[in-house]
Amino acid sequence: MQVCTSLLVLGLFFTVYVITDIKSYKQRKVDDMMSLAQVIGTNSISTLQFQDNDAAKEILLELHKVAPEIIYAGIIDNKEKLFASYPKTSPDSFHIPAALQGSKYLFSDHYLYVTNAIRNDKEIIGNVVFKVELSELEKIKQSKFEVAFMLFAISIGFAFLVAIVIQHYISRRLLYLVDAMKEVSKSGDYTKPLPEEGRDEISTLIRVFNNLMRRVKENEQRKDEFVGIASHELKTPLTSVKGYLQLLSGTEDKQVQKQFVQKAVDSTNKLENLIKDLLDVSRIQSGQLQLTLSKFDMDHFLDETIASFPIISTTHEIIRESNFNHALVHADKQRIEQVLINLLSNAIKYSPGEKKVIVYSKKTNTELIIKIRDFGIGVPKEEQANIFERFYRTKNMSRYISGFGLGLYICKDIIKRHKGRIWMEAEEKGSAFYFSLPLNNTAAN
Ligand code: ADP
Repeated sequence: MQVCTSLLVLGLFFTVYVITDIKSYKQRKVDDMMSLAQVIGTNSISTLQFQDNDAAKEILLELHKVAPEIIYAGIIDNKEKLFASYPKTSPDSFHIPAALQGSKYLFSDHYLYVTNAIRNDKEIIGNVVFKVELSELEKIKQSKFEVAFMLFAISIGFAFLVAIVIQHYISRRLLYLVDAMKEVSKSGDYTKPLPEEGRDEISTLIRVFNNLMRRVKENEQRKDEFVGIASHELKTPLTSVKGYLQLLSGTEDKQVQKQFVQKAVDSTNKLENLIKDLLDVSRIQSGQLQLTLSKFDMDHFLDETIASFPIISTTHEIIRESNFNHALVHADKQRIEQVLINLLSNAIKYSPGEKKVIVYSKKTNTELIIKIRDFGIGVPKEEQANIFERFYRTKNMSRYISGFGLGLYICKDIIKRHKGRIWMEAEEKGSAFYFSLPLNNTAAN
């Protein structure tokens, strides 16, 4: 493309160069011939006054020495009759092109015609006419075209040479990248990044590829960690259930039996929730997480969900603040409840030793915004962008707090399907998680 553009520009440049050169040659020729015609006119005034043809011819003959390219010259009197001419010609054969009448010069195929009035004081007493051969112009044209063509050919050759060298350089690096990609896909080794140098498009491609490899590697690591965590998280409640069942078989006390059954049920609930999360993730992955939409009042819904929370949390008080009493939304009630419970559970889980969590709700012209604010361990700044990713768990305290790294990922998908937004902001102590639902929304599945 670059070679083609350069050739186009060069072609245009040479055409303009040749045309300008020819034009300026023609102008020069016209100026020269006009001056000559004026000189001849001035010298011929007396010959016309005294009707001295021979003297006029003598003057015209002088032209042969000064400008041999004038192949024809004539003096015409004020009655439009040929008074004298050079070379000698019969009056009939002297012919002035019709287009020359009224103008001072005219270019025809190979000739230039020039005419100039002969004035005595202010009175026009005749005209000088020249017919000039333009063979020199043809030669100039030819030589200019030859030079232009030669320069053009050299430029084409040079442009191609440069293009071949650059292309070789580019394709060598591209082939290197392709080989590296093949190697990675064959070996599955994402640990060795390619050397990143330069600032051109290929270097950007290498950087993108390295980034991709880093992300794949991180994902792999997270998946490995997940398998470990998942087995642990699934095994713990299962072990509890087994333990309580064994204990149950060894006691006759009805009260104690009731407690063990309740504990076993709690553990199975936990197990059920974990499995539900896993199922949701696989539904999201296959694009099959469906919404069942209905219209409900968000204010009432928040009160209801929060009221049921003390059953789950005995450690924290959930405080509610709102700027509205009534807000109808069109959403999947169960899924929104899932989001709210998830965010509330996280707020409690990641603020051990604290006493309260605040739920703010706000209505704007276009949406409802729910904010869940805790005073816990917070999320390090550099990890805030990642926590909504699948399997992501922060590297700080959350290592010691059980979890799968799936809750926020599921919440994000549910809110996205409602055409809402979900995000987090760090607070001076702890963090605030937000989600919004559009009012008058038509959520898509
Ligand atoms: P889980 O809590 O099961 O690990 P989530 O997807 O709900 O999974 O959360 C992902 C990660 O985000 C958590 O592991 C934790 O590191 C961080 N996180 C979520 N909520 C909070 C919170 N309220 N305070 C601090 N960190 C949080």
